Amino acid sequence: MIEDSLEYKAQVRLLADAGRLFAQRGWVPATAGNFSARLNEEQIVITVSGRHKGHLDDSGFMVVDLEGNILSPGKTPSAETFLHIIMYRRDPSIGAVLHTHSANATVLSRLFPYGLTLNDYVVLKAFPAITSHETSLPVPVFPNTQDVPQLAAQVDDYMNRHPGVSGYLVSGHGLYTWGRSVEAAIQHVEAFEFLFECEILSRRLSP
Ligand SMILES: [Zn+2]
Repeated sequence: MIEDSLEYKAQVRLLADAGRLFAQRGWVPATAGNFSARLNEEQIVITVSGRHKGHLDDSGFMVVDLEGNILSPGKTPSAETFLHIIMYRRDPSIGAVLHTHSANATVLSRLFPYGLTLNDYVVLKAFPAITSHETSLPVPVFPNTQDVPQLAAQVDDYMNRHPGVSGYLVSGHGLYTWGRSVEAAIQHVEAFEFLFECEILSRRLSP
């Protein structure tokens, strides 16, 4: 069983640590958020539906393949599983996908229903392919929907046309970002959350 492999156990430990970190920061309130990591070319480990992400143990994770088939019998994956799968299918170098629901991400997604751009922040260098602070990073915002496969197709289409995107918001809902590893994806969540806080603060303080 893949659940007995060292790779599975290592990824589960890293994702559970991410959950505790994000819970301390208030980015995964109640049962919000979901996390996944790649196990191999065809399989990922993903959080099960409905758990608090600050208290994840082994029972909070399961295996699905990139077609969406459940490989851990008796467990139910996050309703948003296809938003994870679409990223692993797009890019074999993606090793983890993290989804959070912070207040700042939620507020910005409602203020900018057509997307926002983060301009000229040093922290933008946390993202791949960005080497200068004199740059801008578009953050698309997609309308929230219960039709997750349709939203996943919309994200996929957008990414085909805008290859430099490092994360996106779902309106009134939260952030999706990813990385080559769980550690890299955690850094991207932290960078986005810092930048969202800056955007909110600058709006609050500007006359
Ligand atoms: Zn969500």
